[in-house]
Amino acid sequence: MKQDEFSLIQHISPKEYHQPGLICGIGDDAALVKENEKYDEVICVDTLVEGVHFLKETMSYKQVGYKSLAVNLSDLAAMGAIPAYYLVSIAIPLHYEEREVQEIYKGMHALALNYKMDLIGGDTVSTKGPLVITVTVIGYVEKERHLLRSKAKVGDTVFVTNVVGSSACGLQLLLKYGRNYPYKKNEQEVIKSHQRPIPQIKAGRILAKSNARIALNDVSDGIASELHEISEASQVTIMINDSLIPYHPYLMECKKEEREKWAFFGGEDFQLIGTVEKEAFQTLKKKCQQIGVALHSIGIVIKKQQSNVLLKREETIERLDKKGYNHFV
Ligand code: ADP
Ligand code: MG
Repeated sequence: MKQDEFSLIQHISPKEYHQPGLICGIGDDAALVKENEKYDEVICVDTLVEGVHFLKETMSYKQVGYKSLAVNLSDLAAMGAIPAYYLVSIAIPLHYEEREVQEIYKGMHALALNYKMDLIGGDTVSTKGPLVITVTVIGYVEKERHLLRSKAKVGDTVFVTNVVGSSACGLQLLLKYGRNYPYKKNEQEVIKSHQRPIPQIKAGRILAKSNARIALNDVSDGIASELHEISEASQVTIMINDSLIPYHPYLMECKKEEREKWAFFGGEDFQLIGTVEKEAFQTLKKKCQQIGVALHSIGIVIKKQQSNVLLKREETIERLDKKGYNHFV
């Protein structure tokens, strides 16, 4: 398929919805449905494909399982939700052994336990193609506390959690040396960001419980693509500053051009990125600090009614393209 995924999604999005309980369908990190007086339900699904998202040389089976759930939890985090249930559909190549599939489930189970999530269903099929794992997660969020991409306004502070670019950098190391190489400590840390990304559920909850107006997304495709999604959903222009982007010390030793490519267009960092009204930023930063999450200010929202993402350098301002990791191109 030659089309890009954004154009496909636009074409297949329903023109009308029928269910009165639906609050938000296609277009954000997860769908939102009315649940009860206190909570709304948050639902999303993501797929990992062998040869596209992982290779036997880059991840163990346990890590593949862990990550297939983690990427979904990251979408729940971006909605401010509390994880509750998950379902797993798996297409298993004929040459796989049951022991290997069980390892995948062990990885998922270990992460699910952290959030007291329950596995409540799924499907098992065999395939002549590669291993495909599709995980659906269900969570919930207090009414009116969910976090959408459409809430950014002029003057807001743009923020991101922890560091970005590490996952793509880690993948590059793994593709070069494999996963059994004797990596140094700082290399192991960036590799871990690729193999075992930590979904930012706790930070998402802090943001959801604050009274501030926040627009939020998770970094699955690189910060350029995620900021474009916020700028389009909110109809604003976002300007970030190159000197404010937070990197792991190992990336600071790499070429600037390389680390920017990993952070802007690499993706799979599964950090949270968003905008918040200026006055609320410092309080949120302190709250995140208390749970060991660094919240960095990386720019501002500058103009309305024109979606765009700009990168300010010392002497220049340039446009950041929406080219994240896009399947099919
Ligand atoms: P994310 O990166 O947060 O997982 P995506 O960019 O994959 O989000 O998807 C954007 C939106 O489009 C989401 O609301 C998602 O549920 C929806 N979506 C993506 N692919 C499909 C599809 N094949 N059919 C229906 N909806 C889709
Ligand atoms: Mg997302």
